[in-house]
Amino acid sequence: MTVTDWQALAARVTHPSGLLIDGAWVDGTGGRHSVISPIDGAMIAEVSFASEYDVDLAVMSARRAFEDGRWSHKSPLERKEILVRWSELCAEHSDELAVLQALEMGKPAREAQAVDNRAVIRTLRWFGEAIDKVLDEIPNTARNSLALIQREPAGVVAAIVPWNFPLTMAVWKVAPALAVGCSVVLKPAEASPLSALLFAQLALEAGIPDGVLNVVNGHGQVAGQALGRHMDVDVVTFTGSTAVGAKFMEYAAQSNLKRVWPELGGKSANVIFPDADIAKAASTAAGSIFYNAGQMCTAGSRLLVHESIHDEVMEHVLRAAAETQPGNPLLADTPMGTVVSAAHLTRIHAMVERARGESGELLTGGEAVLQETGGSYYPPTVFDHVDPSDLLAQEEVFGPVLAVTTFADEAEAVRLANGTQYGLASAVWTCDLDRAVRVSRDLRVGVVWVNCYEEGDLTVPFGGVKQSGFGRDKSLHALDKFTDIKTTWIELA
Ligand code: NAD
Repeated sequence: MTVTDWQALAARVTHPSGLLIDGAWVDGTGGRHSVISPIDGAMIAEVSFASEYDVDLAVMSARRAFEDGRWSHKSPLERKEILVRWSELCAEHSDELAVLQALEMGKPAREAQAVDNRAVIRTLRWFGEAIDKVLDEIPNTARNSLALIQREPAGVVAAIVPWNFPLTMAVWKVAPALAVGCSVVLKPAEASPLSALLFAQLALEAGIPDGVLNVVNGHGQVAGQALGRHMDVDVVTFTGSTAVGAKFMEYAAQSNLKRVWPELGGKSANVIFPDADIAKAASTAAGSIFYNAGQMCTAGSRLLVHESIHDEVMEHVLRAAAETQPGNPLLADTPMGTVVSAAHLTRIHAMVERARGESGELLTGGEAVLQETGGSYYPPTVFDHVDPSDLLAQEEVFGPVLAVTTFADEAEAVRLANGTQYGLASAVWTCDLDRAVRVSRDLRVGVVWVNCYEEGDLTVPFGGVKQSGFGRDKSLHALDKFTDIKTTWIELA
């Protein structure tokens, strides 16, 4: 796409604006909600929001679909064909899906196309292709018995997702849940319903039967909570903040003990040792916090650097910061788009202002830019010499804000890296194999990268430990979240 193509497409792209319940687009009773673009503060659409009543209709439709077997009883091969068709339709409509993500949450359309949509297309195909190759088990029991160990779909799944990767987070949940035969109610984030609505329309076109995939746009406190407390939801799969993840566990405890799979926040560290490829380590570390305007659970928001290489690393980091200034996400060469909303920009800036009163030294950034556009643009912001106990080093900012801290030796590096409530990911930069393995083993995180960052593949699970949550997205391990294991004993004569 050229620059003018993205802008022209933004002006004419269409999407549903209702709720998807039982295979039909309907108006919700939770009012109309304006979707505001962070590019310029303009209203780009109005969508219907769900009340608790609408959520109940959506869950009942998912339950009916599950119980009558229109999807859950289909052979894995039939489900696969539909998921693969859906993947193909997403590829055909990739431009529209990309531009909607750029409009609603401000990431560069080019990146949405190359990264998010690629994930969507591949994930639907991968889980579709995988599901007729997953076999059940027959253990070796006594000769006069036969025991079957079978995975069964868990039932009705509520998928509640954030706005930072609106479609990637949705497909990581929806694809494995549908592949095993569950029915799904998807709740997109308030800020980013548009791409999810088009995504769901393509599911209908692909042949997902009515009621098997429902979408309830809505407020977290209303639609999200109603799903969390619903007595007929069997599984909640959630990506979002640690605070809201904890609420879903409360909702489950106060309702039907539904299973909750939380994928939560992070405060990930790049740990750079003196024997690393410094240029690569420093520029990758900078990219890991500036990508998606720092709005990533895995954002490398802490840089732990050995004191002997601090100055050299910082030169690279500051150069990368200067080269990653935010701009209009519909322009082809914009390195960084907006943050998601004016309210989120205010939150980020408040955390930066607070950090000014802490120990760190602000080296670059720290003020909103391009305010004349009416949009929400925040530049790469770097604090140096941050004390590890500062709030800036402990709390997730969810913006392009980096906290740099030095360490003296390996033991201190590991202690600092592990020194937050989070445990999502970390990267180790060293050319010493022994050190790479030692440090990787000592890091209390779900994902370790050695001499790389954000490496990933659908065959490899993704998720955290500690207060970054539990359960895994991607890979065959994701199927565990949406299946129950049933054992059947048969006595033989
Ligand atoms: P959020 O927790 O505010 O919202 C996530 C979802 O929960 C939204 O759909 C929202 O409407 C809903 N929600 C909000 N309050 C609710 C409530 N009281 N009851 C029920 N539902 C409610 O998160 P966000 O601001 O949309 O996203 C940013 C967060 O997501 C960050 O903390 C980030 O680290 C995390 N995240 C984690 C991963 C991961 O895989 N671990 C991936 C992406 C984002």
